[in-house]
Amino acid sequence: MALSGLTALVTGATAGIGRAVAVQLAQEGAEVVVHGRDAQRGLEVVAEIEATGGAARFVQADLSKTEDVLRLAEEAGAVDILINNAGVYKFLPTSGMTDELFDLHMDLNTKAPYLLVRSLAPGMVERGHGSVVNISTLAAAVATTGTGMYSASKAALEQLTEVWAAEYADKGVRVNAVAPGPTRTPGTDEMDAATLRKIAETTAMRRIAEPEEVAEAVVFLASRRSSYITGVVLEVAGGRLSIG
Ligand code: NAP
Repeated sequence: MALSGLTALVTGATAGIGRAVAVQLAQEGAEVVVHGRDAQRGLEVVAEIEATGGAARFVQADLSKTEDVLRLAEEAGAVDILINNAGVYKFLPTSGMTDELFDLHMDLNTKAPYLLVRSLAPGMVERGHGSVVNISTLAAAVATTGTGMYSASKAALEQLTEVWAAEYADKGVRVNAVAPGPTRTPGTDEMDAATLRKIAETTAMRRIAEPEEVAEAVVFLASRRSSYITGVVLEVAGGRLSIG
């Protein structure tokens, strides 16, 4: 199997896109560190992976807290594949954005990936190989009223993706991002159906994605099948519509 002998850390693997990525990485032979806050759902994902002969363990951490992020990096150990997936998206106009929500978007969507790369990339460099995939969003590239802080926190992550790709390219470590469009997850299940339908209508395919469709692209970028690709943001968004 393509990822045999490799260890992958997937943040936010207790639900949605992260869960689908964790399952697919395990199917390709990686030992998966399933991260999240909800231990029950984390252990369910571990059991799902083990039931099909894969290997996984759960680590609990609140990634909005620096000390938890650093502990996660410590407990994950030697990681060959890092998937920065855990994220928050609260859609509010600027006048409605609180200080606390501003900090949460930056801490979870930007700072946690930064701290994980800073902690784990040196080990990848030492071992001579590694792959990081950051989960961004189509909203980072499209100005949409109401998603300002979310889009900004992910745009920062996309910029860091390019910087890290440049920093680590000659050390055997590739860094890429996937920018999903609207995807069916517990997070989007909380949105009202009309909003979700409206977002789906902005895609050429006029539908939202299943998390497994996004995971396919993430696993491709994580694996050696993409060995000459670094610093890209791959849109998995059903095609963007042009004006008119
Ligand atoms: P989701 O269904 O809301 O699940 C979020 C995941 O992140 C859960 O595993 C959750 O863990 C974890 N998480 C949330 N807050 C956390 C915190 N403070 N500390 C640690 N873990 C935390 O998410 P999703 O829709 O699959 O989205 C996953 C990623 O894709 C996000 O980065 C999101 O921005 C991006 N994305 C999603 C869509 C979409 O339409 N769904 C589109 C574009 C981009 P617990 O539940 O265990 O706390």
